[in-house]
Amino acid sequence: MHPDLIVVGGGPVGSRVAALTARSMHTLVLEEHSEVGVPVQCAGLVTPRVVKTACAEDTVLNKISGGVVHFPGGTTIELNGNETKAVVVDRKAFDVACYEKALEAGAEFMTDTRFTSFSRRDDALAVEAVSHGKSRAFHTSLLVGSDGYKSRVGSAASISRPRDSVKGMQTDIGRRLEDQDRLHVYLGRKIAPGFFAWIIPCGDSTRVGLCVKEEYGAPSKFLSSFLKAQGLDGSDRLSSISGIIPIGPPQNTFADRIMIVGDAAAQAKPLSGGGLYTGMVAADCAASTAIEALERNDFSARMLSRYQERWRSEIGKELDRGYRIRKVFVRLTDRKIDEIGKLMDRRDVLEILSQGDIDYPSKLAPSILRSIPSLLRLSPQILGSLLGK
Ligand SMILES: Cc1cc2nc3c(=O)[nH]c(=O)nc-3n(C[C@H](O)[C@H](O)[C@H](O)COP(=O)(O)OP(=O)(O)OC[C@H]3O[C@@H](n4cnc5c(N)ncnc54)[C@H](O)[C@@H]3O)c2cc1C
Repeated sequence: MHPDLIVVGGGPVGSRVAALTARSMHTLVLEEHSEVGVPVQCAGLVTPRVVKTACAEDTVLNKISGGVVHFPGGTTIELNGNETKAVVVDRKAFDVACYEKALEAGAEFMTDTRFTSFSRRDDALAVEAVSHGKSRAFHTSLLVGSDGYKSRVGSAASISRPRDSVKGMQTDIGRRLEDQDRLHVYLGRKIAPGFFAWIIPCGDSTRVGLCVKEEYGAPSKFLSSFLKAQGLDGSDRLSSISGIIPIGPPQNTFADRIMIVGDAAAQAKPLSGGGLYTGMVAADCAASTAIEALERNDFSARMLSRYQERWRSEIGKELDRGYRIRKVFVRLTDRKIDEIGKLMDRRDVLEILSQGDIDYPSKLAPSILRSIPSLLRLSPQILGSLLGK
């Protein structure tokens, strides 16, 4: 088989690349599982723009218009809105919607097919895979790795690993929250060191989860304590998931005939861990670059560097600013986090926060720093560099 493009990974990002390229070239997607959308490793919280882009309106379980942030000492700040800021999707159904778009565009999928390696030929890549237990070989002009945080394509191409990562665990419990409009975020080293915990209403069930920085060990022990502290440990656990969120893209997300996209390129937002929006944006950039490369019959690293220029111009600033703010956040003690909570509990700051866009959370940083200049003392160099940008 000689497809023009092989996409490794039939997650939402791989399917998006396939949906956008398959009308211009023969696109083959290799997916190691026997169906797309499993296992789920996600809270499913996205902005309405993500759902619209993926034409996945039918997968929405709930709409969220506000939130409550809980600081470790008990301070809370409440953000109330009257418009939908985020939606909760059924992540499996969302992935299937993305897959169906790719099929409609003419992409071919091979499930139960795991990419193992590639080697370079004069005018192509020879790609090795194991399909239904048997070795398979393909030739292709271009390879896109959208194969998640472990990215075998990235390691086979010697593209370096993400700069940081967090481990997450989540359980859906069979309890209906009275307030269906607001989600809850909990901060603190004892609760979720290096990240945060969440409670998201989803109709008759509730999503409870957290992520921790890898060095603190398994998130399961933090989740058990959190459920207990919230009085939710007695509720029915309908399902549980776990996964890793890579944070901080490597220096290069391309090489000769190769691009890596989505979690494979650690493109999740460093402050929230959300990777669907940024992954879809990067997928668009990879697809347009793939189409140009085929038109010019030029698959060199120089040509594919356009992909990186494009995604950096769309989301690079957000990922970079978010990464810098996260560097300050992970060093904070619970006392400091609490002090920040008290400083932020002001009408003008709450107004700034309630106007935020969860796809671009770090955009709020300059306005907040101008309203509370004492925050600059936390890290004059890093936070100062965010002012005016
Ligand atoms: C606990 C948790 C909660 C999260 N919550 C949210 C959230 O609320 N909102 C949000 O936007 N993001 C969230 N994320 C992040 C989000 O899930 C990812 O950013 C997103 O799934 C990335 O999509 P992707 O297509 O790049 O990778 P994936 O969804 O990981 O898809 C990769 C695909 O590649 C396949 N694959 C891997 N290796 C191979 C191989 N060798 N050969 C063939 N196929 C292969 C896998 O089977 C998989 O189907 C969360 C992550 C975690 C862990």
